[in-house]
Amino acid sequence: MVLGLLLARAGVRVTVMEKHADFLRDFRGDTVHASTLRLLDEVGLGPRFAALPHRLVDTLHMEMQGQPLDLDLSRLPGAHQHIALVPQWDFLELVASAAAAEPGFQLLRSTEVTGLVRDGNRVVGVTYRDPSGETKQMRALLTVACDGRGSTVRSALGVAPRSFGAPMDVWWFRLPRHPDDPGGLAGTFRSGHGVILIDRGDYYQIAYIIPKGADAEIRSQGIEALHGVLVEMAPWLADRVGTLSSFDDVKLLDVQLNRLRRWYSDGVLCIGDAAHAMSPVGGVGINLAVADAVATARMLAGPLLAGRVSTRQLARVQARRWIPTAIIQTMQRAIHAQVVAGVVAGGDPNAPRAIRVVSRSLTLRRFIAYLVAIGPLSEHAPAFARRSAQ
Ligand SMILES: Cc1cc2nc3c(=O)[nH]c(=O)nc-3n(C[C@H](O)[C@H](O)[C@H](O)COP(=O)(O)OP(=O)(O)OC[C@H]3O[C@@H](n4cnc5c(N)ncnc54)[C@H](O)[C@@H]3O)c2cc1C
Repeated sequence: MVLGLLLARAGVRVTVMEKHADFLRDFRGDTVHASTLRLLDEVGLGPRFAALPHRLVDTLHMEMQGQPLDLDLSRLPGAHQHIALVPQWDFLELVASAAAAEPGFQLLRSTEVTGLVRDGNRVVGVTYRDPSGETKQMRALLTVACDGRGSTVRSALGVAPRSFGAPMDVWWFRLPRHPDDPGGLAGTFRSGHGVILIDRGDYYQIAYIIPKGADAEIRSQGIEALHGVLVEMAPWLADRVGTLSSFDDVKLLDVQLNRLRRWYSDGVLCIGDAAHAMSPVGGVGINLAVADAVATARMLAGPLLAGRVSTRQLARVQARRWIPTAIIQTMQRAIHAQVVAGVVAGGDPNAPRAIRVVSRSLTLRRFIAYLVAIGPLSEHAPAFARRSAQ
């Protein structure tokens, strides 16, 4: 959606295909980090974003085996010293409505890409199923795969990302939240258990960390076992854990951490999760996907307007975005190995050494807060996409 908006503002004709009728799905995160908030200001959408129901978080609070670790965002450079928590469907609808105001833009909902159209080795468009179920073709100078971690376009290209593995999966569910309950974003980790509470106003979105592949085994212990753990970790939830009456309301999210070696082929480019699925650690996947989109628009709007996009130009987009992706994924892998793996395995009652070191160092905490909220090589809106506040 972000790439569609920016390219349309450059005067490029863009079609975004979305297989669902709406964006109302709950499998993605909620965080909009400082770098993306800055981007929204630059493209003139800051006030409309601020009008969405949202929560601002200026401290990320974690507790690991009793050892507190607070990442203070109040010293971030720029206009936003916080992360916003906004359901992703509201964010996407906002971007979609701004894009719809551009003459060259169209969003086709309930339209599923099913494959690629080729001319020799060059990709020249996609096949898709329209809302009536009919299969059609659309030709394009450039096809951008932003269809997520299970990318159809990537499969049609015949490439698979290199997986780095992950020690955990996530259960994803909701519990009611009362006005005087703790707000913001807080994580508690104890031997064998990890719970992250995301304040969504009148309810908590909860991520419960389980060992990779242990879903069936832990479900067999019954929903009461989950109630017990939740109350142990967050005692104020005792009066409402019963609202989670069965595992039907608990979704399994398969955590993946992977990256394509080559993000492009002649006529096609993969960005976002299609190029690099991120772990939920740090909640940075949305911001990396947005930054990929901004870099793509900045580097390819000119070639698209000129009517020719070379593989060398696509390779430059990968080169630009590979660096921050690899840095963040390397950090996520280190956290998986040194923190999460120990937590899900249980046993050691002490906080991992890495957490003790970071919690003692203000400089390290500020550095990590910067990496999470802004990130390496953050992207600014290109001049052609900038507008004053709308
Ligand atoms: C458990 C979990 C928690 C997370 N929490 C956070 C968080 O708090 N903050 C954060 O920043 N990131 C988080 N992430 C990661 C984040 O959700 C992703 O990195 C981000 O959504 C990637 O954006 P994307 O646009 O590349 O792909 P997606 O958001 O997956 O979007 C892909 C879109 O393509 C559509 N689509 C798919 N196939 C087709 C097709 N064939 N035809 C047409 N449309 C298609 C899909 O419907 C979807 O709308 C989390 C991930 C997980 C697994």
